[in-house]
Amino acid sequence: MNADIRDQFPILHQEINGRPLVYLDNAATVQKPQCVLDVSQRYYSDINANIHRGVHYLSRKATDAHETARSYIAEYLNAPHEHEVIFTSGTTDGINLVADTLALSGKITSDDHILISGLEHHSNIVPWQMLCQRTGAQLDVIPITDSGEWDLSEIDSLLTDKTKLVAVNQVSNALGTINPIRELIAKAKAVGAWTLIDGAQSTPHMAIDLQEIGCDFFVFSGHKTYAPTGIGILWGKTELLEMLPPWRGGGEMIKEVTFAKTTYNDLPFKYEAGTPNIEGGIALAEALKWMKDIGLATIASHEDKLLTLATAAISEIEGIKLYGTAANKASVLSFGIEGVHHYDLGTLMDQMGVGVRTGHHCCQPLMQRFGITGTTRASFAIYNTEQEVELFIQAVKKAAMMLR
Ligand code: PMP
Repeated sequence: MNADIRDQFPILHQEINGRPLVYLDNAATVQKPQCVLDVSQRYYSDINANIHRGVHYLSRKATDAHETARSYIAEYLNAPHEHEVIFTSGTTDGINLVADTLALSGKITSDDHILISGLEHHSNIVPWQMLCQRTGAQLDVIPITDSGEWDLSEIDSLLTDKTKLVAVNQVSNALGTINPIRELIAKAKAVGAWTLIDGAQSTPHMAIDLQEIGCDFFVFSGHKTYAPTGIGILWGKTELLEMLPPWRGGGEMIKEVTFAKTTYNDLPFKYEAGTPNIEGGIALAEALKWMKDIGLATIASHEDKLLTLATAAISEIEGIKLYGTAANKASVLSFGIEGVHHYDLGTLMDQMGVGVRTGHHCCQPLMQRFGITGTTRASFAIYNTEQEVELFIQAVKKAAMMLR
């Protein structure tokens, strides 16, 4: 990794308890480079105004910046149409939009099934459970192997012509498994099911080509792709976004309102009620540009190198148990140590300046699958270094020794 990249992250240059900060909680959220911080700050110092409908200079400038950002994001994702790119507040928001509007649409009935996998984050489980409660549909789950991969051996009995929608993540946040989404999307298409891909953990690590992936909906969060919190994207195919009813009602999503009746705006505004996160959208486009300039392949190969180093070193520690041992993984090292509680381990590591995440990672059913309450998780980003991997391993060893 080029030292110039790390220098672009002011937050990383600080000490915790007199030791250099080692930030390894990147799967939860990544830090922001200076260019993204500058764009956010410049938005408020130079541009801030409400968008659309404004005739004055700043409103036009803000609208232009916001729509230029949408256009760049569409291009970045290779979306067929810009109007298919909906600004949301994040992955959770995008999934709830699809689940709620599907429930409202009347397209899901008690005869239908929704298929997810055992690797899902709560935000790709609970909205579908709520949809099933409202419609009487049944939720099916792809089981998970010991290595933390989809077990597709029974897929033909799980994915049938009753399956209306398949919703899965491309990369698991808890284990790092990269899932064979193209294979599953092809199978879903063969039975006429729609597909939603949760890209929260894939967008930070790989280039996304929506036309090549071939799904119907794709969602992700800006804060995991070097942009601020509170902004995300739902992309959906035009015919589906047009088929589904509006979601939240309010300003911007309407064409005409009378007390008798409201007519709704065209895409993407139909799904963007209220004042959006204008600065967030602009900063998201800047962050994606920044990632593209570095190169997604460069980001992935650097993170893979750190993951390989860390996996080899941690495997030497006595009593270690790795969760997620698939060959195809991104950025995440999830583990437990015999006789040591993950919470105690994380707390002691924090005192040594090393920030990792402990617990269920919003994947309680996955933890239940492995018969545990949680893991300790280190996750790497482009700015992490080999020295940090060493400090991480030293901290794990020292904390484990103290706790055993
Ligand atoms: N899905 C996955 C795989 C995630 O990792 C996360 C965030 N941890 C989410 C969904 C939810 O994202 P957000 O909280 O940004 O809405």
